[in-house]
Formats: sequence, C-alpha cells, structure tokens
Amino acid sequence: MSYDLIVIGAGPGGYVCAIRAAQLGLKVACVEGRETLGGTCLNVGCIPSKALLHATHQLHEAEHNFGAMGLTGAKPKVDWKKMLGYKADVIGQNTKGIEFLFKKNKVDWIKGWASIPAPGKVQVGEQSYETKNIVIASGSESSPLNGVEVDESTIVTSTGALELGKIPKKLIVIGAGVIGLEMGSVYARLGAEVTVVEYLDRIIPGNDGEVAKTFQRMLSKQGMNFILGAAVQSATATKGKAKVTYRLRKDDSEHTLDADTVLLATGRRPFTDGLGLDALGVEMTGRGQIATDKQYKTSVDGVFAIGDAIEGPMLAHKAEDEGMAVAEILAGQAGHVNYGVIPGVIYTWPEVASVGETEESLKEAGRAYKVGKFSFMGNGRAKANFAGDGFVKLLADKDTDRILGAHIIGPYAGDLIHEVCVAMEFGAAAEDLARTCHAHPTYSEAVREAALACGDGAIHA
Ligand SMILES: Cc1cc2nc3c(=O)[nH]c(=O)nc-3n(C[C@H](O)[C@H](O)[C@H](O)COP(=O)(O)OP(=O)(O)OC[C@H]3O[C@@H](n4cnc5c(N)ncnc54)[C@H](O)[C@@H]3O)c2cc1C
Repeated sequence: MSYDLIVIGAGPGGYVCAIRAAQLGLKVACVEGRETLGGTCLNVGCIPSKALLHATHQLHEAEHNFGAMGLTGAKPKVDWKKMLGYKADVIGQNTKGIEFLFKKNKVDWIKGWASIPAPGKVQVGEQSYETKNIVIASGSESSPLNGVEVDESTIVTSTGALELGKIPKKLIVIGAGVIGLEMGSVYARLGAEVTVVEYLDRIIPGNDGEVAKTFQRMLSKQGMNFILGAAVQSATATKGKAKVTYRLRKDDSEHTLDADTVLLATGRRPFTDGLGLDALGVEMTGRGQIATDKQYKTSVDGVFAIGDAIEGPMLAHKAEDEGMAVAEILAGQAGHVNYGVIPGVIYTWPEVASVGETEESLKEAGRAYKVGKFSFMGNGRAKANFAGDGFVKLLADKDTDRILGAHIIGPYAGDLIHEVCVAMEFGAAAEDLARTCHAHPTYSEAVREAALACGDGAIHA
C-alpha cells in the first residue's frame, strides 16, 4: 500500500491534517492506536471534561440561581452513573463524527500502533506501508510527579478523574493549572471538598496576574480551597484512601492532607513512545518534544511533526491549525500559523479566556501600552443572568492603539475572546473595536466597552 501522506495519530492535529490533505488532493491514511478516533481531546480531554462541566454548571445554576428567578421545586439529584453515561454519549457522537469525516474525505483509517522503520515507511503490526511523507501527531500524556503513585482509581490523572467510580467527599488536586481547576470545579459543584495544592504562589501561571487573583477569589467563593507555594512530596493510597504530604516553600514546614481521591494535574509531556524516533535519527528538544522548523519538518527528510508532540501551547486548536498548515505545505501551498494569536480558555464558571500579550509580558519587554478595562457589572445582560462578576481587559499599544492582547474573566469568555482574535489577525486598533456597533443586550458589549476604555472612556463604567 502506498500513500502521499501517512499521519500518525488521530487527535485534533492528526485528523485535521489528514482531512485537509485529502481535500487538497493527496492520498492519505491516518494511523491510530486507540480504538476510536479523536485522540486525547475527544476521548479523554477537551470534550468529556466540557460535558461534565456543562452538566455540573446546570446543577450549580439550579441550586444557586433558579430560586431568585422564581423557579422553585425539588433540588435536582445527581445520578452520577447517568452523568457519566451522558459524557460517554457525547464522546461517542464526536468520535463517530470523525469516522464519518474520514469516509467522506476518503482518508483511510489504519488501526494499530505505528512505527517508522525508515523515511517513507510506516509499520503497523505486520503490515508495512510506503508513503511520500509522514506527519507525526502522536500527542501527549500526563506528566508524572516524583513520589506520587498514580493508580487511576484513588490517585488519578485527568483520565481517571473523568471516570471516577463515585463522587469523592474530599478531593485534592495537585496543580492549579487549567485541567486541575476545571476538574476541581466539576467535583466542587458535585459537593466534594476540593483542595488545590500548587507549587507556585499563584494559580494559572502564564495568565494575566489580575485575572488569576480574581479567578482564585471566585473559585474560593464557590468552595474551593487553595494551598499555594507548596511542594508536594508524596501522594500514596491505602485501602481506597489517599494521603498527600507537602512542604510549604516559605518555611519548609511539612504538612499532610487526607482525601478520598487525588488528582495529579501538574502538566502533560509529549508522547512519542514506540515510534522508533531514536533509531530514525529524529532530533528532540531538551523537553522531550520533537524538534521542527517553521514548516514542521523534523531533522529527517519527509518526516513532519505537529500538535502536543512539538513545542508550543498544548491546545487542541493549536494542533488543528498546525495540522491544516502542514497539509497545505505538503500540497504546495503556504501553510502558516500565527502563534501570536492563539487563544487560551478555562471552561469553569465564569470562564477565563486570554489571547496575545499580558501586562507582565509587555512590562518585561519594556513596551508602552494602555489598558482598557470594563466590569461585567456594567453589562445589562450579565447582571440579568447573575454573571456580573468579572471583567474584560484589553491591552493596546500606547502610541498606535494596535490591540496587543485581551484577558476576559466572565460569562462565555471563551466565545467573546474570538472577536479580539479576529481584530488582532487584521491588525486592528482598539478604536476599530470601539467603533464597531455591537448588538444590545449582549455580553460582547463588554468587549466594546473595554475598547472604548482604551480611548476616551467606556460609557457604562
Ligand atoms: C482533561 C483534558 C482537558 C483538555 N481540555 C482542553 C480544552 O478544553 N481545549 C484545548 O484546546 N485543549 C484541551 N486539552 C488539550 C488537548 O486535548 C490537546 O492539546 C490535544 O488533544 C492535542 O492534540 P494532538 O493531535 O497533538 O494529540 P492527541 O489528541 O493526544 O492525539 C494523539 C493521538 O495519537 C495516537 N498515537 C500516539 N502514538 C501513536 C502511534 N505510534 N501509532 C498510532 N497512534 C498513535 C494516540 O493514541 C492519540 O489518540 C485537554 C487535555 C486534557 C487531558
């Protein structure tokens, strides 16, 4: 069997690459070791976590806001098995959707684990395939932490956390990043006592500091506890109970916490096992990523790599965009990803979304900037919908007014951010957003007001 392109891995990077390459006329196959298509994202990542966040947000609304709107009645009861069933249905619909898209676009799905014995060759079990080019989109796995013994039942990674046998009474989350806070939120809404233990002195490192502080305050109000500046020494499980010890960095004092479940969420690392990259001579970075140039070429001719397996933010949409770009490059077009405009979203309630520069990064670079900020308290729609807590912060160049970044904490921040992304792609100034008519009453008016605040001032502040 011979192909123009074999993609290894059918996550958002791999399946998008395969579909786009087929659309551009290449003969394509995609190899996937998992039983279903869609990779981490659809099977044990973005999609299942969002299903549980959605279900538990409905519960939170019913418990906290329905009464105020005159909606009374029995408090909803949680049927955990059924909720997991709903999550499984959502996964199934999505993974089957990719199967359909493969058929529609004539992408061959090769089932099994692939290795690359030589350039132009892919081996899957006993079968070998010839191909002009190979794209590695093998994704990532949870990073381990010294002293933490993951068993995926009492001490779990995000994969186990999506499938717990029962709702824990006490949950300890190690790591205050996106995955830890999303899954922590799910279980806090389900009634668990959630404690987040984080090595740094702040949550969501890399995000705007003011957003991080506001976010921590909001999550604390929702019942989550935070222990910051704490280095976890160990997490062990005995008879279905867990113990976590940590040292406070400020005074080196040692402490112990008990829990029913511990979620290890300290990050992810590239997964390249079994591909044979060493023997093939593919260069790696010091952080275990496949090294590529700007066109996603590895050090071996005809072998490309994208997504979580290479440098850059570990996000599904980053992987997808790289998948499209490399397919276009292989089809003789000019594929390109603008890494300055990749949004990041945390799907808690409220949501947190960001794109571009932060105040911290601008200060570090010594750039002159201005800030336009608008609170959702001044947004009529948000006030009506119990979503007035939070704000939009727009950063623009002090002299040219060009938008440099945006940070939103508030309702549907993950959708609102894209207005700013599009503006940034077009090199827009804050004034361009401010002069764009926004429908009333919408949450997006808050983005416009933040843009107005970069100039002569917001109206409803
Ligand atoms: C709990 C959780 C929640 C997340 N939520 C979000 C979110 O909301 N938004 C977001 O943008 N990102 C989110 N992510 C991150 C997102 O899932 C990843 O960034 C994305 O899946 C990366 O895509 P990828 O194609 O590079 O790799 P993956 O999705 O990891 O897919 C790689 C695939 O390659 C297969 N594979 C590996 N090696 C081989 C081989 N040798 N042969 C055959 N197949 C192989 C694997 O089985 C896997 O299916 C989340 C991750 C987790 C864990």
